[in-house]
Amino acid sequence: MKDTDKNAYQPTRRTLLAGGTAAAVAGIALSGTTTEASATLPETWDEEYDVVVIGSGFAGLAAAHEAVKAGASVAVLEKMRVPGGNSIISGGVVVAPNSPLQAEAEIEDSVDSLYDDMMKAGLNLNHPELVRMVAERATETVQWTIDELGVQYAGLSHLGGHAVPRSYALAAGSGSGIVGPQLARLKEMGVEPRTRTLLKQIVRDTDSRVKGVVVHTGHAHPDLDSGTPVAIKARRAVVLATGGFGADPSFRALQDPRLGGDLDTTNQPGATSEALREALRIGGILIQPSWIQLGPWTSPDERGFGLAPHFVQGVTASYGLWVNTRTGKRFVNELADRKTRADAILATGNNAVAISNVAGMATERLDRMKDNGVLMEYATLDALAAAHDIPADALKATVEAFNAGVAAGTDAEFGRYLPGDIAPLDTPPFYAVRLSPKIHHTMGGSAINTDAQALDIVSNEPIPGLYMAGEVTGGVHGASRLGSCAYADCLVFGRIAGQNAAAEEVWG
Ligand SMILES: Cc1cc2nc3c(=O)[nH]c(=O)nc-3n(C[C@H](O)[C@H](O)[C@H](O)COP(=O)(O)OP(=O)(O)OC[C@H]3O[C@@H](n4cnc5c(N)ncnc54)[C@H](O)[C@@H]3O)c2cc1C
Repeated sequence: MKDTDKNAYQPTRRTLLAGGTAAAVAGIALSGTTTEASATLPETWDEEYDVVVIGSGFAGLAAAHEAVKAGASVAVLEKMRVPGGNSIISGGVVVAPNSPLQAEAEIEDSVDSLYDDMMKAGLNLNHPELVRMVAERATETVQWTIDELGVQYAGLSHLGGHAVPRSYALAAGSGSGIVGPQLARLKEMGVEPRTRTLLKQIVRDTDSRVKGVVVHTGHAHPDLDSGTPVAIKARRAVVLATGGFGADPSFRALQDPRLGGDLDTTNQPGATSEALREALRIGGILIQPSWIQLGPWTSPDERGFGLAPHFVQGVTASYGLWVNTRTGKRFVNELADRKTRADAILATGNNAVAISNVAGMATERLDRMKDNGVLMEYATLDALAAAHDIPADALKATVEAFNAGVAAGTDAEFGRYLPGDIAPLDTPPFYAVRLSPKIHHTMGGSAINTDAQALDIVSNEPIPGLYMAGEVTGGVHGASRLGSCAYADCLVFGRIAGQNAAAEEVWG
């Protein structure tokens, strides 16, 4: 039995009742509150804080930061051995429309343009008020990371589906460039995440309010029964910031049967669904869970996110081409949104390579990519074609057509945005990376409002005392998330959740 299978999601009557459709089918009155699913209040609490934050990624740490600043006592609880979740391993780009870096580069942009791009990629399934909040607050939030956390950025990136280059790239090259400063600042404020602490139960009382949690300390992932139960009272509120379920094959397969099993993922192993399911058990609303994003820029020649995206997205999407190895032709706008590109690669049967004659990265990273076999270098297009079984004449014709477009300043075939410094693909060496999409982001999750309050499946009103933020929530990204928009989502709503949680009245 695989580790992940051990904790396979088994729907129970309770989770089904909390899950929505079944509640309607069972004829439960859609009024009042969802107390049927509540946990019993413990006779005594082992510990107590004003605000209890579950999860130590961008969203949880941002919530904790704001709650401490507002004067609350705060605990941050994390099930894994190390804090940071997907946030710490992430790619390091954060969206900021109408930013100072864009002004320097004379790029015109607006909040409305970002909003439109997010809605378009999300197939308009996004909840507009949540998108508006992220779009409006993204740039001030990036500024907050600079002013409040001392985060350093290295320049602008152009990610797929964005009308213009508008994403700040972290100098650190990964999300550790924000999580590190978040952890350091929180430590100065007196809070350190308590690791190996698994959320088991959210305690929702019969008066409808969430009053605390039951966790297992000394937890050893992925055994959900490991550790010692501890009841922690949340005098003001609980903030659930437990991330997505990209590394949970059985829950993924329930949402989209094509995406279970052994499909590779870019996510950390703790990106599983049990905390989301607990939120549903006590009355949360599950929305849009079957929209699961595949990253189009990953390689089958390494595990996980790896190094390929730095070249495939960072270089070839702007300065190169993606080619179907069977036809030698381009098959998609290399700067389209992720869903469009991943679907297009799958339609080639994963017979696709990304090529460029620009390395576009530090020698050290380039060498690592060559050493692990992800990046291949060729002296001629003929050699590249032979190595990847591409019809050579068709490949050369594709490159010539593209070069003519570069000279004319337009991409006639796909209308791709061409950067001002793009050069024709005519001088060797030529680099290639094979493409194979991997599970990357789970757009669905628990429903929240713009105050980051979790909503109740029966009343559709806020669940008193429960806030949620980050990838565990749904609605911001609709059918497909645009690159660099998750950072803004997590930080914007994490901060809102922390501020509002600290402002809740103390109960009891
Ligand atoms: C490889 C990779 C690259 C990415 N690059 C980018 C990028 O460049 N730009 C961008 O905008 N987005 C990017 N994303 C997406 C983005 O990083 C994530 O959406 C974001 O980090 C999620 O933050 P979070 O705080 O919601 O969750 P996380 O950072 O995943 O944190 C959640 C934490 O909760 C913990 N947890 C889960 N369940 C429990 C439980 N039951 N009890 C206790 N703790 C629990 C988890 O272990 C985890 O540490 C990337 C994602 C990946 C995987």
